[in-house]
Amino acid sequence: MIEIRNLVKRYGDHVAVDHLNLTIEEGKVYGFLGPNGAGKSTTMNIMTGYLSATEGDVIINGHSILEEPEEAKACIGYLPELPPLYTDMTVLEYLTFCAGLKRVPVQERSAQIQRVVQMTRLESVIGRLIANLSKGYRQRVGLAQAILGFPPIIILDEPTIGLDPKQIIEIRRLISNLAKEHTVILSSHILSEIQAVCDQIIIIHHGKLLANDTPDRLEEELGGSNTLHLTVKGEKKTVEKLLANEAGVTVEELEQEGAYTYATVRMGAEDVREHLFFACADQRTPILNLHLDETSLEQVFLRLTSDAVVAPPQKKRRGLLHRNSVQPEGTSIAVAPVHPEEPEKHEEVSD
Ligand code: ADP
Ligand code: MG
Repeated sequence: MIEIRNLVKRYGDHVAVDHLNLTIEEGKVYGFLGPNGAGKSTTMNIMTGYLSATEGDVIINGHSILEEPEEAKACIGYLPELPPLYTDMTVLEYLTFCAGLKRVPVQERSAQIQRVVQMTRLESVIGRLIANLSKGYRQRVGLAQAILGFPPIIILDEPTIGLDPKQIIEIRRLISNLAKEHTVILSSHILSEIQAVCDQIIIIHHGKLLANDTPDRLEEELGGSNTLHLTVKGEKKTVEKLLANEAGVTVEELEQEGAYTYATVRMGAEDVREHLFFACADQRTPILNLHLDETSLEQVFLRLTSDAVVAPPQKKRRGLLHRNSVQPEGTSIAVAPVHPEEPEKHEEVSD
């Protein structure tokens, strides 16, 4: 449906999009995830014909955005980071104007406008000047113009930025509804935003593609295997023997201190916790502490987009921490903004 081929965008010496290759299939919701400055808006602006590329091409339903921009653009509805609203128009005037630009047949215009107004819940402000609307309503007007014409692909750049939690929930609901009939691509620098609505997550950083997978697979493949931390009341050699009988288990650490044995093991595909529990019970070596340390998608995202480590995931070795009941870090990391020092370039991008 969309093919991004070797896309490069340079601003002077600065490479904002760095040889990006991507295929977007029909019918899914794609999430463009990356910290501020990752190149999301630039990529979306090129995909939608707002901005030219330095190198590469974007093919939309068989049409090159560079060579056949009219045909390619007709397949797309776009909500840029800063929606191009004419604030001295009323909502109805603006949507009528957009329907004209999008060449919605005259006889269908009022029915279509009515439908998008209903979808975006703009009924109560339809006659108001856009200048007098709140940020939430303006964003909905922006969404309404993106949906007008009901193009097969809808691209939304940070659609929930600056909205309050209630408005965010409403926009998410709307996106989920849109996804029933459209291919939706949305960007965000906030993982939970993407996780909530997307089938496929595309992580970009410094203009490069870092990952492109389903949320589950990302967690599985990039998160590495699940690590178990155990405290068993019993001898080290007994525990060692028990662990050796568990399928797919790799022992990372095993140490006895007094009457207790501490173990850190990695599980394979099979979850052995239950079997291990009964095996230890049979040997009268009770498990006093059992903790599963799964890598969350949040950790995957942080790891991938931290400049220090863009390399493959590293094994965690923190087995003995659990002796003192220290909880693993990473369960409540605030994801956004990942690079607060990197300024956003709202004004410059949406030209
Ligand atoms: P994102 O949307 O992921 O936050 P952008 O696509 O806006 O990222 O920006 C990618 C990079 O390109 C950033 O480093 C940004 O500073 C730079 N950039 C964006 N627009 C311009 C511009 N018009 N001129 C110069 N640099 C720009
Ligand atoms: Mg952006």
